[in-house]
Amino acid sequence: MSLPNGLTPDAAREQAARAYELDRKHVFHSWAAQSTLKPMVISAAQGSYVWDGDGNRLLDFSSQMVNTNIGHQHPKVVAAIQEQAAKLCTIAPGYANDARSEAARLIAERTPGELNRIFFTNAGADAVEHAVRMARLHTGRPKVLARYRSYHGGTETAVNLTGDPRRWPNDHGNSGVVHFFGPFRYRSQFYASTEAEESQRALEHLEQTIALEGPGTIAAIILESVPGTAGIMVPPPGYLAGVRELCDRHGIVFIADEVMAGFGRTGKWFAIDNFDVVPDLITFAKGVNSGYVPLGGVAIAPHIAATFDNRVYPGGLTYSGHPLATAAAVATINAMQEEGIVENAADIGARVIGPGLRELAERHPSIGEVRGLGVFWAIELVRDRETREPLAPYGGTSPAMTETVAAAKAAGLLLFVNFNRLHVVPPCTISESETKEGLAILDQALTLADAHTV
Ligand code: PLP
Repeated sequence: MSLPNGLTPDAAREQAARAYELDRKHVFHSWAAQSTLKPMVISAAQGSYVWDGDGNRLLDFSSQMVNTNIGHQHPKVVAAIQEQAAKLCTIAPGYANDARSEAARLIAERTPGELNRIFFTNAGADAVEHAVRMARLHTGRPKVLARYRSYHGGTETAVNLTGDPRRWPNDHGNSGVVHFFGPFRYRSQFYASTEAEESQRALEHLEQTIALEGPGTIAAIILESVPGTAGIMVPPPGYLAGVRELCDRHGIVFIADEVMAGFGRTGKWFAIDNFDVVPDLITFAKGVNSGYVPLGGVAIAPHIAATFDNRVYPGGLTYSGHPLATAAAVATINAMQEEGIVENAADIGARVIGPGLRELAERHPSIGEVRGLGVFWAIELVRDRETREPLAPYGGTSPAMTETVAAAKAAGLLLFVNFNRLHVVPPCTISESETKEGLAILDQALTLADAHTV
């Protein structure tokens, strides 16, 4: 049977062999020691599935890099890119353009509060760079507070803000970033036994950090509304409202990084909508157009935008608001609205993924905790439920993790993996039956993890 893009299995195999050979000769990959890599070739993708170079179909519970919120090859988005390509492929950022203007309107309409000016970037990291630059210029202050257990991107400031091991080799200690602990009850820094205690103590810790760093030196606090790669730790009630209050008290800009959590992932347009909090700046990328063409940006509150009414904003990029990328965003947002895709993410999370993963936790001793919302879930794998010893060390991997992920893949399921965690982060469009198919494969694969428990 042909692949969804019309390739016969033989043609796909031939193409895949050449793609692999050239990749190993010429492609330099992200975050990797190059000689150890054996990248899987993807020959086709459709909806919630991808096809490998041998024509095998795999259910994509990773949404690639948690970005294909609308699924693969959504026909309305593909058509919009094709139409825009025929109409106008590229234009410099200084001109106005209908695709860019409409994308900005659609995004502004969905952001909380009055964050209705949009600065477009190429992806998430540069959105973070610009949000921080705006905050520093707006406040005239140098420092930025960011939490441990976070990811904000691979560029200079963004990687310094990052609270995971990817920062270590890139950090020269001169970035003006100060890290603090956010709430994470399963591995609490605060000896908290309830969500309320965790929230209150994490806020006290942040308040102390601000006091000891000097409130007048702090431009911004940046937080993922729900931290993604770091573990999908949904903040306890009151935490983000408390951060908002601390920012207000000290004139600090609150940046919500919604690069991964935004555009439907949590069952709301923005993750921060789950907490009724309005930040000053929102960074977005990934789900804004599902990554069909690279796009990111910053949504800006009026008081920060006003700083640059009569003062030049010292930043920009050749492809800011690129027509192909913004046309894809317009089609993505309209399709998500018309087809109830954000609502589907909320429903699948509440009715199928959450209960399904909790049921797995009853039977698999390797599951220490299940947490998440929408189509944004993590399962924390442990060697010992009592001590919570992780099944792989922080920053590393282990045979137990590798075997579990390989078993899932061999049975047709792609997972997102980080250290000792498996993330269940399918497209927001996933159906109930596809979700159950994936959970059944996960159930089988977890028996390999169980074999490594005490
Ligand atoms: N911020 C968050 C929360 C992310 O998850 C990511 C990427 O995963 C980024 C920023 C960086 O985005 P990009 O890889 O598009 O530069």
